[in-house]
Amino acid sequence: MDQTQINTWRAKDIPPQTHLIDGKNAPASDSATMEVTSPIDGQVITTMARGTAQDMQAAIAAARAAFDDRRWAGQPPAARKKVLMKWADLIDAHALELAVSGVRDNGTEIGMAFKAEPGSAAGTIRYYAEALDKVYGEIAPTADDVLGLIHREPVGVVGAIVPWNFPLMIGAWKLGPALAMGNSVVLKPAETASLSLIRLAELAHEAGLPAGVLNVVTGEGAVVGEAMGLSMDVDALVFTGSGSTGRRLMEYSARSNLKRVYLELGGKSPNIIFADAPDLDEAAKVAAMGIFRNSGQVCVAGSRLLVEASIHDEFVDAVVNVTKALKVGDPLDLENHIGAINSETQLMQNLQSVETAQREGGTVTLGGGRILSETGGYYMDPTIVTDVTPEASLSQKEVFGPVLAVTPFTDEAEATRIANATDYGLAGAVWTQNLSRAHRMIRAVRTGVMHVNTYGGADGTVPLGGVGQSGNGHDKSLHALDKYTDLKTAWVKL
Ligand code: NAD
Repeated sequence: MDQTQINTWRAKDIPPQTHLIDGKNAPASDSATMEVTSPIDGQVITTMARGTAQDMQAAIAAARAAFDDRRWAGQPPAARKKVLMKWADLIDAHALELAVSGVRDNGTEIGMAFKAEPGSAAGTIRYYAEALDKVYGEIAPTADDVLGLIHREPVGVVGAIVPWNFPLMIGAWKLGPALAMGNSVVLKPAETASLSLIRLAELAHEAGLPAGVLNVVTGEGAVVGEAMGLSMDVDALVFTGSGSTGRRLMEYSARSNLKRVYLELGGKSPNIIFADAPDLDEAAKVAAMGIFRNSGQVCVAGSRLLVEASIHDEFVDAVVNVTKALKVGDPLDLENHIGAINSETQLMQNLQSVETAQREGGTVTLGGGRILSETGGYYMDPTIVTDVTPEASLSQKEVFGPVLAVTPFTDEAEATRIANATDYGLAGAVWTQNLSRAHRMIRAVRTGVMHVNTYGGADGTVPLGGVGQSGNGHDKSLHALDKYTDLKTAWVKL
């Protein structure tokens, strides 16, 4: 990937986008569209279908028909694997196109987007394609006169709702295992990051996925997402997004058919630096990237930096210096390290969170404001707020933007107490050379993921999921397959 290739893709017009239902492109039932605005410069780059409840019902009906006639689940595993492998190859072949259209839509810097979006999506699809003929049922240890078989069956129609920060990566975390296990899927992308997912689904069909097995409906969450949630014909909902939407999905399930609801929600993840960290300079670099990559729009972002009091000032200086060297700007310019905030609404929320932090006694040590507004785009200076108490809003509420809260602690017990003093439990890290302390902290900090002497970077072989109000269920690894399969007992009298 070089700048010329990026510029070539960026210059291309993006035609108006539609749903993908039963293998065909389809406009909204009432022909309504919505503008797609690029956070790079605030310009409208295309339109997409503003879906109706009727559109969602049509997509669910297509998925149901495809599941019921077993056009996908009934194919031999080797045939399904071949299609998914071809899909992954097509994603690789179209990686730059996918990455650039995704960046024009959501604002992530291209270097990261290229790896984290098509790169990761292709890897995920391949991982589950390879796994699909290696997952067996079981034979129970019964008495001689019976046979107890435990089958693993696809759950049926899966509704997948994904956010805007990494649409392809998170989308593939749902689509890979769901399709590998033989389910049909209706995918609802975020309003501000639909383009690359529509293309991803088109490529699946090019690879040979039968019509109706994967459908995409775009539009507003409150309309098409609600219709999916309330459907009597969706068997499971898999979701990544905010806690407030997660709550709604559980309500929809309770008000309809008790469909399973798996939620990957937000976090306020603590990055805990002890004075005996192996390399404080490295820790400062990683801490800065742990919050500022993709402008902090990362569910596992290390948004709370807890620093042992004896090294607090020196460590904060180091993080400030690393951060000052990060260039914010046009996400399609390879020279920039950090791109745009996804939407003007999100930018305003970020700025608001800084104001609140200051009102509550925090000190803005770096950044704090909107920048590059002359471009028309949505950019924010990476922001470091010190003197943040564990009770402050900035310690308690997820910002989902480039805002780091710094809090000192005196010992391991206090670090653990502060780390656990939120409703969330997604990720965290501990930096120390003391092996016993590292393991104690892994156990004591209540999160789904703990890093030791690093932050982020886990690959597809390990599960990602939260505890507390960070959600339930897991994406990635073979454990994700549990969400997409039902266990069925066959009890056979011999
Ligand atoms: P969001 O909840 O606003 O939107 C997520 C999706 O839900 C979008 O597709 C949206 O259209 C849809 N939606 C909105 N209202 C809906 C409704 N009433 N019914 C059905 N669907 C509806 O979240 P967001 O702003 O897109 O994403 C940011 C959030 O996602 C953050 O809280 C972040 O931490 C979280 N996140 C979590 C993970 C994880 O793996 N745990 C990963 C990425 C992002």
